[in-house]
Order: sequence, then structure tokens, then C-alpha cells
Amino acid sequence: MEGNTLTGRADLHMHTSASDGITHVEAMLNRAAAHANLDVIAITDHDTLESSLWAYSQRHRYPFDVVPGVEVTSADGHVLGLWVTRPIPRLMPLIETVAAIHEQGGLAVLAHPFEPTIMWHSMWRYLRQPEVLIYSGVDAVEIHNAGAITPGSNWLARRVFGDGMLPVLGNSDAHMPGSIGTGITRFNGRTAADLRASIERGQTAAEGRSWAVTAYLTLLINWTLRRWNGSLATKPHSTRPTHP
Ligand SMILES: [Zn+2]
Ligand SMILES: [Zn+2]
Repeated sequence: MEGNTLTGRADLHMHTSASDGITHVEAMLNRAAAHANLDVIAITDHDTLESSLWAYSQRHRYPFDVVPGVEVTSADGHVLGLWVTRPIPRLMPLIETVAAIHEQGGLAVLAHPFEPTIMWHSMWRYLRQPEVLIYSGVDAVEIHNAGAITPGSNWLARRVFGDGMLPVLGNSDAHMPGSIGTGITRFNGRTAADLRASIERGQTAAEGRSWAVTAYLTLLINWTLRRWNGSLATKPHSTRPTHP
């Protein structure tokens, strides 16, 4: 399906201060409502649903739908669990992570497949045998991540997975309000139910740009200060200070 027929706009990957984002979830939602022109959003903190469930409970206050979700740290890379409401254990193999997401009725999305947060051997496997994602049951792949720091990683993800093999997503991975909407998943319709149906039919498109340079700098300073005073909410394995 042509991208220009996909009128819905979603940003399904963003973080709050419940993990390594800078601001409280409410500031993220207010910014999304005021400036980002989105139909559906998901808060996907690293391995915690605290902010996401709060956002979901407040969805009627906002002009967009909210999908509950989480960014799971699997042993084979970061996996977005969408339509998930209970925690998923960390550091399980991809196939088990996907199964745990499906057990809750959620969709599993491999996030930023060629960023160095994942194990090198997994990255190499995705490159050499991209069909391994189909065998693992992954529902979609993020081929545009606006916070990607590795040159060419989005290009490579689009090249490997963007040929219709799997449904594709574009997301901001915003860690502060100003980055929301820098990555967009286009879909058919307006609601979260429409979005899910579009993903399941493979009728989505990914687009966007990179974060502003100031966003990287602000985040680096924030993480450094929080690590200094011990208040960074993420567990050591879930993030590295050099990558979202
Ligand atoms: Zn990630
Ligand atoms: Zn992320």
C-alpha cells in the first residue's frame, strides 16, 4: 500500500523519567497533545510499565489513543511489547520474549535492529538471516528510530526489512518532550484498533528524521548527572549512556 494513503500517524516508542527519559510522563503527553499531531502514541520505558499504564489510564484526557507498552531488554536486542500491561522478564532469548508478549495478547516489535545496544552476534544474524525474525514470531520491525546514533543503522534496517518481509514501524524513541514525533508510523485509520489492524496486515510505513543535536546533548548531560547522583532509574543492563 502506498504511504500517501496511510493517513494515521503514530509514535510508539518513547521514554519517561520512570526509566531513562528526562521528564515525567505527563509532560510527554502534554507535548504530544500540543505539538506532535499524533493519532496514537505508546510510552515504552525500559522494562517498566509504570508510566505507560498511567498514560493509558489518562487517555481520555488527550486527543490521541494510547497503547500500553514496554521496551523489553531481551538477550537478542530491545523488543517493544505493544498492547502489553504486565512486565516481561528481561534477558530472555528473542523467541521467548516474543512468546511472553503474545501470551498477553500483545504485538512484538524488534526495535533499532542495527544499533549496538544489541549483541553483535544477534545483529549479524539479523543481517545474514533476516527471516529468523519470522521464525521467532516478531510482528514488526522498527526501521526508523530517530535517536539512532550508528551511522547507516536506519538505512540498513530499511534495506534489510523494508521490502515487505515484515510490517515496519517508524518511532522517535524520544527521551524528552521535544523529540516526540521525530519518528512516525503511518497507518490506515485513526485509532489504536486501526493501527493494530494495519500492523497485522502489513499496511504501515515508517518515516521521520533524527533528533535535534541539542536533544543528544541534553540527554547526555542528564544521564551523566543522574548516574553521578545514582538516580538513573534504569537497571545497568537496560541502557547504555551512549544510546537510547
Ligand atoms: Zn532501545
Ligand atoms: Zn527506547
